[in-house]
Amino acid sequence: MTGSPLNGSLVIVGTGPGKPELMTPATQAALAEATDLVGYGPYLDRVPATKGQCRHASDNRVEIDRARHALALAASGRKVAVVSGGDPGVFAMAAAVFEAVESGDPAWRALDIRVEPGVTAMLAAAAEVGAPLGGDFCAISLSDNLKSWATIERRLKAAAEADFVIALYNPASKARPHQLGEAFTLLRGVKTGETPVLFVRAAGSGEAKVIATTLSEANGTHADMRTLVIVGASTTRQVGRWIYTPRGARP
Ligand code: SAH
Repeated sequence: MTGSPLNGSLVIVGTGPGKPELMTPATQAALAEATDLVGYGPYLDRVPATKGQCRHASDNRVEIDRARHALALAASGRKVAVVSGGDPGVFAMAAAVFEAVESGDPAWRALDIRVEPGVTAMLAAAAEVGAPLGGDFCAISLSDNLKSWATIERRLKAAAEADFVIALYNPASKARPHQLGEAFTLLRGVKTGETPVLFVRAAGSGEAKVIATTLSEANGTHADMRTLVIVGASTTRQVGRWIYTPRGARP
């Protein structure tokens, strides 16, 4: 079954936020063509079965090991698809693969590697409520697994001072229950209490749950691992039942 090393390839695909309709045709084609799928179990479960395909499900914590495994499979001639939720380039597997290439076997640099984009959580979350990302915005992951909490605080403060809309990925997990509350405390020192804050859970899955509140009322315990938090800019506002940020500061 093992193909020639020259025919091996690796594609890192984004399966979008949850609904099958939000997966791109290019991602579907890449998944159907793969001989091997590598990814976190729940993401693999979203992929329809293709006959004869090997599935290598792994635990979510060991992204770099998963990336090395995928590269080794591709180097042995397999057509590998690494499966990521949302977009693979946003706090996900595409960067892990390139980190593994950088620190790994020099021969991996000659492999056929490509990335298929997907709908990232902040776009799906924004679409659930209107257009909160309509002006300048930034995305920050609150996870301090790969960077220090001091770095996260510095970036939050700078983003708030520059009046960006802020999309917060990885706002909370069982191991990190208090950080979102700490982030809100920090942001309250810079932004007004009326700033809109949105908690969007399971965006783009068909079962989204939205909590729209303000920075003064925002409660860090309202987020879990499937929640994307959007903190508005000074111009972010409500119109009817929608929340949006105008494209510019001028009226
Ligand atoms: N690559 C993914 C992000 C991985 S980081 C993407 O592009 O979407 C994981 C974080 O993404 C979660 O903790 C959560 O904050 C967010 N997330 C992923 N899917 C989500 C969804 N359907 N709804 C809301 N947030 C989601």
